[in-house]
Amino acid sequence: MDVEKKSQRQCIFCHNFCKFSCAPYIATKNQKIIQTQKNYLIYMAEMEKIKANTDLGEAVYLCNDCRRCETYCVFENKKVIGNNRYARNLIFKEKLASDRVYEIYDNFIQYGNFLGEKKEAKEIRNSDKDKKYDFFIYAGEYVNFLAPEIKESFIKILTSLNKNFIFCDDEDPDGILALDLGMKELAQKLMENNFKKISRYKFDTLICLDPYSCYGFKNDYKDYGYEFDCGIIHYTEFLENNISDIKINKTDSHIKYFDPCMLSRGLKINDSPRKVLSFINSESNFDLIKNREESECCGGHLSLIFPDVAEAVSAGFLKELESYDDKTEVLVTACPLCLSNLSNVKKSGRFKIYDLAEYISRNID
Ligand code: SF4
Ligand code: SF4
Repeated sequence: MDVEKKSQRQCIFCHNFCKFSCAPYIATKNQKIIQTQKNYLIYMAEMEKIKANTDLGEAVYLCNDCRRCETYCVFENKKVIGNNRYARNLIFKEKLASDRVYEIYDNFIQYGNFLGEKKEAKEIRNSDKDKKYDFFIYAGEYVNFLAPEIKESFIKILTSLNKNFIFCDDEDPDGILALDLGMKELAQKLMENNFKKISRYKFDTLICLDPYSCYGFKNDYKDYGYEFDCGIIHYTEFLENNISDIKINKTDSHIKYFDPCMLSRGLKINDSPRKVLSFINSESNFDLIKNREESECCGGHLSLIFPDVAEAVSAGFLKELESYDDKTEVLVTACPLCLSNLSNVKKSGRFKIYDLAEYISRNID
């Protein structure tokens, strides 16, 4: 925890250089969201100079972990996610988080998913634990519950390519949301269960449909001692390597690409989705004004706890896009949370929003 402590102190003495990079702050003007404020309050609570309360509990969860402030941070030690997880774990254990956070916790315990839904995963292909596969597909909870079309589309693409793949019909949560929300002990249990379940199968490459799962498998799982003995990629990387083999109808629609935070700032995967798009589209530039590591945010997991703030963030982005761009017909992204959050506020009908997998699968010949 030493490095996180150091960056916590740096934030406390900083002049908020990242303030205007923070979409939830811009949307709400709530000072509590800013890293300086949050870290200062946590520090004071730790030192017992102030009493931690529900106000502080709200503050530490009013951040979507988009890491945009890291891009604009003036210090080398940027550990926003680590600081957030640390602060939330303190607050969670003190029972000072909002009710919604504890509802999500109870849903994990009772139903095995964050939404508390009893939902049967659709069986598309039977699994055989003794057979060796080229690819294991992990959809992740956001895909399974918020954007199942991503999974259906990607399965369609793999089938059209005649690939040798497998996926689990009753996937376990990856534990990353629980970790992000400060539920450290629960997260560890979920990671352990999921790791054991996936490890029962034999395959060469784990393809993640959700960038959060992909980042978690590559980093958090390793930190907790669960290291997969296989390649781990995001599905956009698979598409980049295989797009030329897909029989696809090319399109000349005006497309813009919305970089998902976790894909661009977390995994640093920026070129793969653009290369895939340039294969099927005559345009060569799919960039929004803010792109790649500077990309905007959709509101992320705030939609699960503070949906009004997430909606304000997504609506702010879409309004701005509509104000400077009258050509875009299709907005493509590559993350289930982005797809879900942006689609939830898309009212004007000016352009359609798709996940890249869905967009490709719709254009398969
Ligand atoms: S991670 Fe994103 S939401 Fe959180 S403080 Fe930084 S810019 Fe704001
Ligand atoms: S994240 Fe960086 S720029 Fe933002 S308040 Fe902390 S130290 Fe300053």
